[in-house]
Amino acid sequence: LLRVEDVDKSYGDEEVLNGVSFEMDRGDVDVLVGPSGSGKSTMLRCINRLTEVDDGDIWLNETHVTAPDTDVNALRQEVGMVFQDFNLFAHLTALENVTLGLKRVRGMDADEANERAADHLRQVGLANQADSYPAELSGGQQQRVGIARALAMEPKLMLFDEPTSALDPELVGEVVEVMRDLAERGTTMLVVSHEMGFVRSAADDVHFLDDGRVVESGPPEQLFQRPEHDRTEEFLAGLQ
Ligand code: ATP
Ligand code: MG
Repeated sequence: LLRVEDVDKSYGDEEVLNGVSFEMDRGDVDVLVGPSGSGKSTMLRCINRLTEVDDGDIWLNETHVTAPDTDVNALRQEVGMVFQDFNLFAHLTALENVTLGLKRVRGMDADEANERAADHLRQVGLANQADSYPAELSGGQQQRVGIARALAMEPKLMLFDEPTSALDPELVGEVVEVMRDLAERGTTMLVVSHEMGFVRSAADDVHFLDDGRVVESGPPEQLFQRPEHDRTEEFLAGLQ
C-alpha cells in the first residue's frame, strides 16, 4: 500500500532524511521511533506532501506521491493525519470539525455529513460530545475528535505524529485505546509514538530512525529483545 524508496531530504546543510526506505501492506501498523530531530515528523510530512522530498520516491498504491504533477488535494484525501497539537477549529463544535472536510472537500450534503460524522464520533467514544466546542473538551477528547475527523474522510492510510505527547499522562490511555481499536479493525497506520504499550501490542513493524537513517526495522519483539545494533538497544532501553 505504501512504498518509501530511498528518500532524501535536507534543510540547508542538514541532512534530515538519508536514504529512508520501508514498505507497508494494507492493514499494517508501522511505528517510527527515534531521538528528537531524527526525521520522524519530516518522514510523515513527505507522505502527504506537506514537505517535498529532495530525492527518492514514495508510492501510495498506484499513486506516485512524489511526482511533481501529483494532485496533492486528492492525495491528502487518501492520507489522514493526526497531529500532536490536535489542530481543531476552536469556533466549530466537535461535529462541525468532523463535517467540515466532508462538506467542503467531499461535497457531501449536510444530512449525510452529519450522519457520517456522528458515526465516527461514536467510534471514538464521543457520541455525547458532538455539540461541544474544543475548549469544553479535555485534551484526550480533543485528540479523539482529531482522529474522528481524519477517519471520516475514509483515508487509505492514517498518519499519527506523536498523538499523545501533548496530553496529561492520565489522558494518554483513552487515545491509545482508540488507536488500538483502529489497529484491530485493520486500519493501515503509520505512527510516530514512544508509547511502548501501544508499540508492543499493536505494531507490526517498528523502524528505528537515527540521524535521518533507518538503523533497524522489525517486529517489536525482535527490536526490543534482539536488536542488531547497539544504537537501537541504547535508544529503546531509554524508553522503558
Ligand atoms: P521530534 O521527536 O523532536 O519531533 P523528529 O524526529 O520529528 O523530532 P523532525 O521534526 O523531522 O524530527 O526534524 C528533523 C530535523 O529537521 C531537525 O533538526 C529539525 O530542526 C529540522 N527541520 C524540520 N523541519 C524544518 C524546516 N521546516 N526548516 C528547517 N529545518 C527543519
Ligand atoms: Mg516530530
